[in-house]
Amino acid sequence: MIQNIFDSHAHYDDRKFDGDREELLLSLRDSGVRLLTNIGSNLQSSARSVELSRRYDFIYAAVGVHPHDAIDVPEDYLEQLEQMAKEQKVVAIGEIGLDYYYDFSPREMQKIVFEQQLRLAKKLGLPVVIHSRDAAADTMELLKKRRPKGIVHCFSGSTETAKEVLKLGMYIGFTGVVTFKNARKTLEVVEMVPLDRMLVETDCPYMAPEPFRGKRCDSAMLQKTIEKIAEIKGISPQEVADITNRNACRAYEIG
Ligand SMILES: [Zn+2]
Repeated sequence: MIQNIFDSHAHYDDRKFDGDREELLLSLRDSGVRLLTNIGSNLQSSARSVELSRRYDFIYAAVGVHPHDAIDVPEDYLEQLEQMAKEQKVVAIGEIGLDYYYDFSPREMQKIVFEQQLRLAKKLGLPVVIHSRDAAADTMELLKKRRPKGIVHCFSGSTETAKEVLKLGMYIGFTGVVTFKNARKTLEVVEMVPLDRMLVETDCPYMAPEPFRGKRCDSAMLQKTIEKIAEIKGISPQEVADITNRNACRAYEIG
């Protein structure tokens, strides 16, 4: 079994874990998972992320407002995020970004909330966790303008976009999508991205890798994602776990 795994992007505050959260989290060590970052998607889930990081020594937290939730942020949301970010184990502002696939929030509003949080991260000296779906051009424009440090998670863009992300000094996160049959484009990106700039993540409870596709995902399933990346890169799965663990610690400035 692969050991020393860092799940760089998880949502264990999600309702889907309400029935067995404690038991599941405590079992992860036996599945080779050493560390994880729980990612906020609005103020409530950010607060729950902080709570998880307080309760479990192997969990870090990110706080931020996802583009889906940009539509109803309270006026003082930046102050609230800043307050939460003072917690010792909050390691990033995220997830933040643009989602033009679902368009749950008007695009103009998504852009405003994204840029405000990029500025907050700069002010606090924290890295960011970026969500971008069907919005590569606008995402890259804002990243080039604000030049944050951090991670573009669940990368779904082209190799050209990935090269631009790397040029900005950022890391790229890969999920169980790399195991999907129709993942040709993502596999090309995995091939191109240097080992020292990639992270592995579940984005759980979503994005379960094959053969669990469609089921509730958890960090134990990263074994499959790592095996696939190892196959593409031509190194051992354990090396992928060790390298991506180191990268995640660097990206989140841990230790
Ligand atoms: Zn996520």
